[in-house]
Amino acid sequence: MSLFKFQSYDLVVCGAGPAGLMAACTFARQTGGARRVLLLDKKAPWKEPIFCAEAVSENRLGKLWPIDRSWVRGRISGIYFTSPSHYRAEFYSKNCGLILDRSGFHHALADGCAEAGVECCFDALVKSLSRNGDGSWDICVKGPDGAPVSVTAKTVIDATGPGARITRGIECLEGIESGDTDLEPAVFAVAEGIEHSAEHIELFFGSEFQDGYGWIFPRDGVEVNIGFVLGKSALPGTSLREKLKSFIAERYPQAKIKAIYGGMIACGQSQRPMALCGLFKAGDAASCVNPISRSGIVESMLCGKIVAQSVAEWLDAGTPDARQKVEREVLDHWMKELGNAHLQIARAKPGFNAIKDSQFDRAAKSLSKLPREKQTLFRIFFAVLWACPSLIWKMRSFLK
Ligand SMILES: Cc1cc2nc3c(=O)[nH]c(=O)nc-3n(C[C@H](O)[C@H](O)[C@H](O)COP(=O)(O)OP(=O)(O)OC[C@H]3O[C@@H](n4cnc5c(N)ncnc54)[C@H](O)[C@@H]3O)c2cc1C
Repeated sequence: MSLFKFQSYDLVVCGAGPAGLMAACTFARQTGGARRVLLLDKKAPWKEPIFCAEAVSENRLGKLWPIDRSWVRGRISGIYFTSPSHYRAEFYSKNCGLILDRSGFHHALADGCAEAGVECCFDALVKSLSRNGDGSWDICVKGPDGAPVSVTAKTVIDATGPGARITRGIECLEGIESGDTDLEPAVFAVAEGIEHSAEHIELFFGSEFQDGYGWIFPRDGVEVNIGFVLGKSALPGTSLREKLKSFIAERYPQAKIKAIYGGMIACGQSQRPMALCGLFKAGDAASCVNPISRSGIVESMLCGKIVAQSVAEWLDAGTPDARQKVEREVLDHWMKELGNAHLQIARAKPGFNAIKDSQFDRAAKSLSKLPREKQTLFRIFFAVLWACPSLIWKMRSFLK
């Protein structure tokens, strides 16, 4: 029996993370069963571990997918901003965020895909793509028994995450976004024995994070996710695992590390094409992570949704010119929704990275003296600017 129901599809989505799941589901719902769509991943999207701290804005996620308590670990009502000398500013806003159980969340999205008519195959490693003479795509997959299987598609969405290996070296895709804009390394541990607030995330700033930041995200009141992302300029040869272990040992000597995981985050916004020749990029494969917060779950879902709508338009377009127009417009659409904001943030990032430890300390110290209700995000932002006047010029992209 063949791995797939059909030999050819209107759309094959490669990668079933938030971007691919959202793209496949959006496309199937929009086309109402009139188009064949296949979703491929090398593993079941709910299979642990998932390399993520799992924090999202409740408001932004709720606009894309109905929130279900069964896949929410907890609610977040605040953020501690901690300076190198451990001064703490606190931003408080009741129920502003969620900590997801991403495994359960992915399961819900995958169920949504199946209900909408998406054929899901979660034991299929995409090995390579090639373009046929008639403009369709051949997708070569390694199935569960290790044997290669090929399937044909009019359009493909690459949602395979950062680095986007499957589209490398394909001539007609020269210049396409490749999910490697400002690729930054991140590492975290799931640990116990760390005193923390179950309704706050804590962010650590300072030069030890080499243009990135550290974090503690609560999980279930007992365990935490503790880790950091380093800037792309992080010293070569830095062992993230060792650095994380000593960070934890110094600050939380009682902590018990249960497991350590790592991954890469594409933290910049390029303006390279997101679609060429019927192949579309979505999520981390399109470098759509917020360049400073490094959040990418909701961003990938939004990107997947936009791309899926464009694929439906592309398939309905009658001429090559009309299709090329759709391919150009997908980037415009993304830039309007979120990309332009990310571009501004990315431009301000060097200024933010230039803040000295003493300046972080000064800002956090002055904020920590204010009552909690006066520590608004606006005030926190301006306290940092005040402590570091040269930043005002560097951060002008935020101010204009
Ligand atoms: C350590 C860390 C912490 C993070 N914390 C947060 C956070 O707290 N909040 C937040 O919003 N974002 C966070 N992010 C970012 C977030 O995880 C990503 O932006 C998001 O997962 C991107 O979704 P995606 O669908 O584009 O890609 P992914 O989630 O990477 O999904 C890609 C999928 O493609 C599959 N795949 C890859 N190659 C192939 C292949 N050849 N064939 C078949 N399948 C393939 C993979 O198995 C995977 O399921 C974090 C990232 C890291 C690394």
